[in-house]
Amino acid sequence: MAGNRTVDAIFFAAHADDIELSCGGTVAKFIAEGRRAGIVDLTHGEMGTRGTPQTRLRESQAAARIVGATFRERLDLGDGGLRTGRAEELQVIETIRRWKPAIVFAPWPEERHPDHARAGRLVTDAAFYAGLRRIETRHAEHRPQAVVYYLQNYIPPVTFVVDVSPTWPVKMRAIRAYKSQFFNPRSKEPQTFLSRPEFLEMIEARGRHFGAMIGTAYGEAFVTKQPPKIDDVFTAYTGREV
Ligand SMILES: [Zn+2]
Repeated sequence: MAGNRTVDAIFFAAHADDIELSCGGTVAKFIAEGRRAGIVDLTHGEMGTRGTPQTRLRESQAAARIVGATFRERLDLGDGGLRTGRAEELQVIETIRRWKPAIVFAPWPEERHPDHARAGRLVTDAAFYAGLRRIETRHAEHRPQAVVYYLQNYIPPVTFVVDVSPTWPVKMRAIRAYKSQFFNPRSKEPQTFLSRPEFLEMIEARGRHFGAMIGTAYGEAFVTKQPPKIDDVFTAYTGREV
C-alpha cells in the first residue's frame, strides 16, 4: 500500500466512500490491468451522521485494500465546508507532484453537495498549478495529462463510459467495507439516505444503466472537458447497435 513511486492515476474525493460508490470498479480495473492508482480523501468525514472519523478511516483503508489501491491518503480540508484557499490548494498541488499521476480523477465541479463541487474545482485548479515551476513546494513541478470527473448525484451528458463488468463484484465488496455507512441490519445508528437498502439498489441500477449505454453488464460514466483520443472507432462500438 505504501511506497513513494509514481502512480498512473489519483482519485481525489471529498469523502471516504465517494470513490467506491462512483468509480470503484474503474479503480479495481486499473489495478487488475497492472496500473498503479491511489485514492486521496480530502476530508476526515467528521460531519457524517453515522460512524466517526476513526471508524471511517479504518473502513476506508479496508475498502482500499479490496480494490487494490496503491495507496490511500487523507487530507483535512474540512467536511461540511471544504476549504479551497491557497493553503489547501498547495496541499493538493504537493500531493500531485509527489505521486506524478498521468490522470487525475475528481468530482464533477457542478455536483449537488457543495463539498463535492468545491473538491472538483480545487483539484482541477491544483492539477494545472502543479505544473508551474515557480510555485514552490517540496517536490518539483508535474502537470497531469487530464482531469476526468466521476459522477455522483447529477448526471450531465457523459463523455465516456468504462466497462467495469469484471470488477463490479469487487466494487460492491469495497462499498460494503463501509459497515457504518451502508445497509447493515445490526446497526443501531440513525437511518440515513445512504444506509437504506434502496441506496445500494440504486448504485446497482446506475451501474446497469451506464453499462447498457455501452452494451456491457456494468459501466461507470465520466465527464471531461478533454475529449479522449479513440484509436479505433470500430472497436469502441463493437457489439452495439443503433
Ligand atoms: Zn461525498
